Amino acid sequence: MKALLKNIRDTYQAKAARRLLTRMGGETKGDANTQPLLILMYHRVLPEQDERLAFEEPGMYVTPETLSMQLKTLQPLVRFVDLGQWVKARREGRVLEGGETGDNRLCCAITFDDGWLDNYEFAMPVLREHGATATIFLATGFIGTGRTFWPEQLNRLLKLAAALGPDSRAKIGLEEFIASTGVKPDSTRYANKEYAAEVIAASKQFTDAQIYRFLDESFEHLTQDSELTLEQGAEMLDWHQVKTMAPTFDVGAHTVNHLRLNEAADPAAVDAELDGCIDAIQSHLGAVPSLFCYPNGDVSKHAREAVEQRFAAAVTTGNGINQAGDSLFALKRIGLHEDASNTPESFLAKLYRGASASGA
Ligand SMILES: [Zn+2]
Repeated sequence: MKALLKNIRDTYQAKAARRLLTRMGGETKGDANTQPLLILMYHRVLPEQDERLAFEEPGMYVTPETLSMQLKTLQPLVRFVDLGQWVKARREGRVLEGGETGDNRLCCAITFDDGWLDNYEFAMPVLREHGATATIFLATGFIGTGRTFWPEQLNRLLKLAAALGPDSRAKIGLEEFIASTGVKPDSTRYANKEYAAEVIAASKQFTDAQIYRFLDESFEHLTQDSELTLEQGAEMLDWHQVKTMAPTFDVGAHTVNHLRLNEAADPAAVDAELDGCIDAIQSHLGAVPSLFCYPNGDVSKHAREAVEQRFAAAVTTGNGINQAGDSLFALKRIGLHEDASNTPESFLAKLYRGASASGA
């Protein structure tokens, strides 16, 4: 869309967002049973000049300045609440603390997925400055390790492969892999963010195990056949950092290996991913997590039942504002990223479009 049209649309939708958020807050009078809840979904918080951004998808981050602006923009319109406390109040059918004082602003909870180190470095200071708390959903198998998730690894491989000669085994393997996803291999675009996003989206037709097998082999070829350095600083949190993030961050579960819990996932593996994650959090932090986040938003029938047995509530990647009567195991969120929400107007417009998806 042309920039001017986008501006006009954003201005219009930002106004609509202010009206919508105010109306939804006013309807509830602090009653947890009927109280709608807006949940913001973030992943990474990285400054524009941070080198970690080179291997990241545009949809995965906001800058610290953008996060700060978003919280400041929302402050007059919403009441920041802790997701765990909101869920507890809803389950117990009581008024959420603070609601009885006549604060009629819409409840808003903040979430961060995965367990990125940058949440400690850049999100925590911003949240503390605004007096807000958040829930961080940990994929525990990555905490305190040098591992990252397959989309980041694939992104990294694409960028590195762009510099390789045509005979390199890693480059040939990558070309075959891309072709198998249905995307046209085009090595002139390997370093292009949009191309990487396209390949990552198309790769989701394969299982995580298949993708990791391909990546492990590719990185082995890469180190054997080239001088390229694979040196990479820590990207994920360690358990000590997680501990120091309390009470700004409450910890929720996000599986061990970030397995997508779709119908292709083996039910026994799903159970192991949930139990392993709960055990790791309990052994490191001494508390059992009550909240869960479905990796990639995927959830099979078995996964849904398994999650309901183990947790008090779960968040999805589905858009919308949660209303009375909505299931606590399919809580909707509105995802925010730098490209689409780095001004107050575009941010509010994004919230409006996200909220409209649920018919709010
Ligand atoms: Zn995730």
